[in-house]
Amino acid sequence: MIRERVAEDVYLFTSEVYAKVNAGAIVGADWSVMIDTLAYPDETLEIRDFLEKRLHKPVRYLVNTHYHADHSLGNSWFPEAVIVGHQRCRELLDTLGRTALENAQQQSKELEDVRIVLPNAVFDRGGISIRVGKRTLRLVFLPGHSPDGIGVLIEEDRVLFSGDVMMPIPYIVDGDYETMIESLNKIPGMKLENLIQGHGEVVLRGEVRSKIEGNIDYLDQLRRHVRKASRRRDPEEYLKSIDVESCGKSRILLNGLAEELHTRNLLALYHKWYGRD
Ligand SMILES: [Zn+2]
Repeated sequence: MIRERVAEDVYLFTSEVYAKVNAGAIVGADWSVMIDTLAYPDETLEIRDFLEKRLHKPVRYLVNTHYHADHSLGNSWFPEAVIVGHQRCRELLDTLGRTALENAQQQSKELEDVRIVLPNAVFDRGGISIRVGKRTLRLVFLPGHSPDGIGVLIEEDRVLFSGDVMMPIPYIVDGDYETMIESLNKIPGMKLENLIQGHGEVVLRGEVRSKIEGNIDYLDQLRRHVRKASRRRDPEEYLKSIDVESCGKSRILLNGLAEELHTRNLLALYHKWYGRD
């Protein structure tokens, strides 16, 4: 796990094990708020030790930006914390999340002791805020990568933890195309100093707009290829031949996961828009 200080009392933790997942913490006078966990217990426990043993600021609130395992599986290591999330996050973690954990446990012994813990403070419309020290964390609904996505805006510092609606390469297999674009378009108006994506590098103030435009352009390329595929005799074969670079994204993003995410995006969109189920 790599630790970085983003602003005073604001930390970013990036996984070195899986897909550069980001988690964060905002530290107050006596306690802290965590945003997401990392997938594997070792890395999440390293974060917990840093906050609780080194800084002596136990985690009072843990926000889940969405229900996906790589962000929420660490909930069970914080039994004293209030887990906060969108109402849909609670529902999805309770259903799809349990199945995903069972599958993952068959692949990885490290996850043996992990349990699903559901958010116990939920909201559905609008947003809520958490006050920690001198800071206000505003939880905002940013769906599109998943139906339950939320971001955490630190109002005073203009730092947004966006969850996976913003990643170095958009991933929409569990989400919705138009909704993601709507959510992305809300971000430039937040006047950010730093945008912490769900995975990968921190986006600095001067790059926010161009990175968002880059992701919207990529989504546009997906749409164009999926339409083209629908007129082909073998749409899937056509889609599998479209590489990620030709859609404006590097294949080395996210430890080389980009190409795989890209192909899954194309196939999922094709099935959603043209599939006959
Ligand atoms: Zn995700």
